Amino acid sequence: MTNREITIVHLYPEKMNIYGDNGNVLVLKRRLEWHGYEPHVIDYNVGDAFPEHVDILVGGGGQDSGQISIHDDLMKVGPRLQELADHDTPMLLVCGLYQLFGKFFKTADGTNLKGIGIFDIETHATNERLIGNVISHNDTFGDIIGYENHSGQTYLGERAQPFARVKKGAGNNSQDKHEGARYRNVIGTYLHGSLLPKNPRIADFMIEIAVRKRYGDFSPQVIDDLFADLARDVASQRPR
Ligand code: GLN
Repeated sequence: MTNREITIVHLYPEKMNIYGDNGNVLVLKRRLEWHGYEPHVIDYNVGDAFPEHVDILVGGGGQDSGQISIHDDLMKVGPRLQELADHDTPMLLVCGLYQLFGKFFKTADGTNLKGIGIFDIETHATNERLIGNVISHNDTFGDIIGYENHSGQTYLGERAQPFARVKKGAGNNSQDKHEGARYRNVIGTYLHGSLLPKNPRIADFMIEIAVRKRYGDFSPQVIDDLFADLARDVASQRPR
């Protein structure tokens, strides 16, 4: 294999990037290097030409105002994102972009922000802010540790699969104990923190899919996750 490049597209880093969500891109980049690949990160912001080639796509959270400012552009690139999702591209969308990958987000002033509908979910602003440390569980990834801060509450439609089940905290809403959603290799989650430094299994899952899709096989290196494990221990013992 001569070419080992993997392209990560970071969706709207200027407007959608809070509570350290940028750390997800840093982790993917560094772990790709540790596995012997050459990451190439493209920032995609409002008005940019959408990249020709995408191996991994990552997007973060933002205030309602950030969501409103990227909304028109997201509607334009939505069909391309749907096509990538349907072709099994690994993607991670946190909080504000998770909401807009769904059917709609109804904001506190009643505005109905249409989403791109990759997830069969809907989100409604509430007066209750769900804030604090979260532990959720997924059969593939085990315990997932992160931090949530959102007033939008999300409900899954019939075609949506939850990403994880909440053990501590709220997750999608204050009722059903679902956290996030999953469509093919697209993961939507409320968890900041950032997520991937404390959940490297999710990062390696995304990397493995991207590398196999592009190059046919993947031979991972053994990575020493001592610090990630220590961070997981500390974070999981924090009070809500
Ligand atoms: N503005 C959205 C909410 O509060 C998203 C917040 C976020 O991305 N953390 O529901």
